[in-house]
Amino acid sequence: MAQKYEMKQMEQAKPNPFENALEQLRIAAEYLKLDDGIHQMLASPKRQLTVSLPVKMDNGETRVFTGYRVQYNDARGPFKGGIRYHPGVTLDEVKALSAWMTWKTSVANIPYGGAKGGIICDPKHMSMGEQERMTRRYAAAIAPIIGPYKDIPAPDVYTNAQTMAWILDTYSTLEGFMSPAVITGKPISLGGSLGRDKATGRGAVFTTVAAAKVNKVDLKKATFAVQGYGNAGSNYAEILQTYGPKLMGASDSKGSITSKTPIDANKLLAHKEKTGSVVGFPGSQKVSDKELLQSDVDILSPAALENSILPDTAKGIRAKIITECANGPTTPEADKILHKNGVFVVPDILANSGGVIVSYLEWVQNLERISWTEVEVNDMLEKKITSAFHDVHAASQKHGVDMRTGAMIVGVGRVADAVKTLGVFP
Ligand code: GLU
Repeated sequence: MAQKYEMKQMEQAKPNPFENALEQLRIAAEYLKLDDGIHQMLASPKRQLTVSLPVKMDNGETRVFTGYRVQYNDARGPFKGGIRYHPGVTLDEVKALSAWMTWKTSVANIPYGGAKGGIICDPKHMSMGEQERMTRRYAAAIAPIIGPYKDIPAPDVYTNAQTMAWILDTYSTLEGFMSPAVITGKPISLGGSLGRDKATGRGAVFTTVAAAKVNKVDLKKATFAVQGYGNAGSNYAEILQTYGPKLMGASDSKGSITSKTPIDANKLLAHKEKTGSVVGFPGSQKVSDKELLQSDVDILSPAALENSILPDTAKGIRAKIITECANGPTTPEADKILHKNGVFVVPDILANSGGVIVSYLEWVQNLERISWTEVEVNDMLEKKITSAFHDVHAASQKHGVDMRTGAMIVGVGRVADAVKTLGVFP
């Protein structure tokens, strides 16, 4: 009980992600000399929907879950963003994630706005049947505000292609016709795109390669560690090691490991799939999360949740490059420390934009009734994300700021232009 209370206290000490997002916006607004009215419009979501979801559980009881869909801004195109299932979901977290999606689609220069959804639940302790019934009820609850030209959801933490298939089926049943473009990250058999499942990790690798070039880091001799060995983190590791860097540590919700000898990323994933965790991988030592983040590697990728890199951890980070596969892993205070210490951070809204870039390619294929090969998709992803990297790097050089501020200047700047040109209704 005492321990539980202490954990709650610790959780409460974590910064509010939406406040972090607003602070990042405030910094960008200063550089962009944004008019106060535009700044205010960009600091508030356009629409926030909270839904109650009654679900019949396997034991016959009915439980009511709370879900959200926050539509932040659609000045540049339809709302776009994933759906997260996690016990720690809060409205402020979903608001922050929807703001980051808005800047992310803008940095990637794809014609979307930003949104995010979430349900407070613990899918690890729910059967497939319970997850399906909860998902379908959520899809029905948000159906009035989503659609191929309105708002296009996708996977996020603890949701996957199967979850997307249930949402597609529920939405299409209610509409009366099959509408594959309402959702991305679908199974291939339902109009999903080749390359979408690995896109977040692959995109993050392309940005790491670009970051290594501008920082003169030799990838052939480099080492790296990944915090959070889920979809983004494990694909990042598998693809990055093919460019030369050696994986020296990883973590998941059950613990962190480091190793004195390089870890084969594919074998680590097989170990996690077999045992349920990266912990216990042959030849590795169990370490704390902080030890993993501060381990002696050249490249570090936080690929878990928000608030992973707080000021206290930031002080001891030894990596030269941080590639943020997660959304919002670094707080604004920690950012300042990393920048002062010369750590080159590839920020989330750039580093993990590969997921939504390939979502966009999936949506285009659905709307145009065409299909591209995996090589074509990966090539388009590489071109788009590398050009976004150079836009952000140029902005950071021009203003003499870190890459996060550079990315915010590019992302917020484009949205602000769109908002301004549209004018204020009525
Ligand atoms: N959830 C992913 C993200 O945070 C993907 C969103 C999408 O594809 O719409 O970027």
